[in-house]
Amino acid sequence: MAYDRFGRKIQYLRISLTDHCNLRCIYCMPGQMTFRPTAEMMQDDEVLTLTRLFAELGFSKVRLTGGEPSVRANLADIVRGIAATQGIRSVSMTTNGILLAKLAKPLAGAGLERVNVSLDTLDPAKFHRLTRFGDIEDVWAGILAAEAAGLKPVKLNAVVVRGYNEEDVVDLARLTIDRPWQIRFIEMMPFAGATDLQLGQTVSANEMKLRIEQALGPLDPAREGGLDGEANVFKIFGAKGDVGFISSVSAPFCASCTRARLTSDGILRMCLLREYEVDLLTPLRQGAALEDLRSLVLDAVWNKPWGHGLAGGEIPRNRVMSEIGG
Ligand code: SAM
Repeated sequence: MAYDRFGRKIQYLRISLTDHCNLRCIYCMPGQMTFRPTAEMMQDDEVLTLTRLFAELGFSKVRLTGGEPSVRANLADIVRGIAATQGIRSVSMTTNGILLAKLAKPLAGAGLERVNVSLDTLDPAKFHRLTRFGDIEDVWAGILAAEAAGLKPVKLNAVVVRGYNEEDVVDLARLTIDRPWQIRFIEMMPFAGATDLQLGQTVSANEMKLRIEQALGPLDPAREGGLDGEANVFKIFGAKGDVGFISSVSAPFCASCTRARLTSDGILRMCLLREYEVDLLTPLRQGAALEDLRSLVLDAVWNKPWGHGLAGGEIPRNRVMSEIGG
């Protein structure tokens, strides 16, 4: 088992399969993004070797992310390999949904358990503005295909940005009345290189909740304690689905963080919002013994930062979100 020096058991690995993306969300990357050459990214066998290594250290949960994981070649084979890794109990994926209409079924067949689909608004024009060119119809078709393929429960991720979509929380929350989905509203986190968005454009979970309650009535805590992973979950009275809030900025949940992130270039990052990183791919390519790689991982885990420093004005500068994997 891998524990950090604060006693947190780290067992959840987010693997970024690529930094490439078929959208350019304003909070995630700059408009003119230069993507990494394929040779610099983990190859399929390297992804599986590192997954095995993490599984041997007690990691049991994997989420695929990016960039956009669905643009990765051989995705179904990678999913199949990860799902078959001894010790891995669940494989899920965060995606923008653009390619899901085609991929949902083969991915479910390969062992993918479920997906989180990013959708920040139901308004096609705003969607286009937030993603810099996306077509919301593709995402909608992807969500329905995911549900039909059994990738359930469907969870939608909405990043809320002041001046762009803070009013849209109401229409998104309304979706849960008739559908057994979970809509998770995420406070925008600032990345220095991403855009000119500032911390001032983060909309707090409290404000989002208030907007929803003013329009749709009181939100009651769903589940005991109202927590689902990092989301505080609530229900609109009589609704089939849940509304969740991820308050990474206004009320960080670092104390219960069990995550590590492997970037597409094989770098282990122990906190999304801290620059501390450990390179695993270079030693793997140089022929390092698995025992030495294990030690690198255990050291990195031990040194996992307690939490982020947004409250003190510390913003990650070395990578934008799309280069880490959310
Ligand atoms: N391309 C995929 C997608 O759109 O879901 C996966 C990668 S994306 C980086 C993963 C998640 O991070 C998405 O839900 C996205 O909305 C969220 N995200 C990206 N930039 C963010 C930011 N600055 N603050 C908060 N969440 C962010």
